[in-house]
Amino acid sequence: MTRAVIDPGSVLGVLGGGQLGAMFTLAALRLGYRVAVWDPDPEAPAHRVATYSFPGPFTDQQILARFVGLISVVTYEWENIPAELCRALEQRTLVRPSSAVLSVIQDRLEQKGFLASHGFPIPPFAILTAPDQLAATVRQVGYPALCKTATAGYDGKGQWRITRESDVREVERALSESARPGTRWIVEAVVPFERELSILVVRGSDGQSCAYPLVENEHDEGILRTTKVPAQAASGVAAGAAVLARQVVDRLEGVGVFCLELFELSGGELLINEVAPRPHNSGHYTLDACSVSQFEQQVRATCGMPLGEVRLLSPAVMVNLIGDEATTLEKRLGRRTLLAMPGAVLHLYGKLAIRPRRKMGHVTFLGETLGLALDHAQQFRDSLAR
Ligand code: AMP
Repeated sequence: MTRAVIDPGSVLGVLGGGQLGAMFTLAALRLGYRVAVWDPDPEAPAHRVATYSFPGPFTDQQILARFVGLISVVTYEWENIPAELCRALEQRTLVRPSSAVLSVIQDRLEQKGFLASHGFPIPPFAILTAPDQLAATVRQVGYPALCKTATAGYDGKGQWRITRESDVREVERALSESARPGTRWIVEAVVPFERELSILVVRGSDGQSCAYPLVENEHDEGILRTTKVPAQAASGVAAGAAVLARQVVDRLEGVGVFCLELFELSGGELLINEVAPRPHNSGHYTLDACSVSQFEQQVRATCGMPLGEVRLLSPAVMVNLIGDEATTLEKRLGRRTLLAMPGAVLHLYGKLAIRPRRKMGHVTFLGETLGLALDHAQQFRDSLAR
């Protein structure tokens, strides 16, 4: 087990410069580190806060040489970065979580195969390698089913729902149109879940791990809208989720922050939807409602430092600002009114281009009780929707 410790003052590399990379960077700066951000998009939010900024393609060998020359360790802020880049970096420096972990996680088929082979609970699934096999593959898992691209899908992108046999033709056509050579898909049974939950686990380089409270999530068209913490689950469910999450990350031998997205069935049984090898949108509440945020834990785990004790300081509800909601907010509610709402903490990611479904910011509502936080979050959402 590697125990390499990276001291404050060192430069940490992060691949990907979205809001997760920016929040990681801010946490690292607060702990005395410097950060090199590599993201092809020059307007990616993390470039604004980086000590060293590399806005260029992940294939650029000159950037690779300069980046490696600066950094003591590398982490990443999303799983769709090229695994070959991580492998190349691993030849020359520490990568946490490792490229082996990234490879298992970034391909849905690999990930499901890994979880199934270790007996972890997941929805029934089958592999699809050619669109014309769709009907036969859906029959293996049953209707209704979801077809997802094995790689590069996120926030519900690259997903098709097949409710009945008559949908097959249309989805088959969509798959053929979007397929590239070698594209594979996973066909999954649609789970009749009661609720969607998630849980963060942090695992250090010494194998010690800790879990955050179980949270409850609401999605709309595959995209996270709201997170409530703590989840109002039976205590057995919350404890079971923490055990499951720690077991999965132990099996992966992952070093870093991980999030398990879960489906809760009517009897309280949990199925794993997916595992993320990084801080997660449903963990943004930790910035304002916990002793140590998921981003500080990412810094600590990446640098081989002891993990922080996890303490929930307040119930919280996190509401994402998606697409033009940040501007609607200005027009309808007014930032002044929002900032004056009890317990509201506003985060705007500074993205210049507003696009539908793009995550632009979030608001965390803290409350003495979850009920109070929910009331304020609901008032806020109502005023956005009016
Ligand atoms: P994913 O990109 O796999 O995280 O899926 C995004 C969202 O789609 C999830 O949060 C669920 O709301 C929904 N979803 C994904 N897979 C399933 C499934 N097997 N059954 C029911 N809903 C699903």
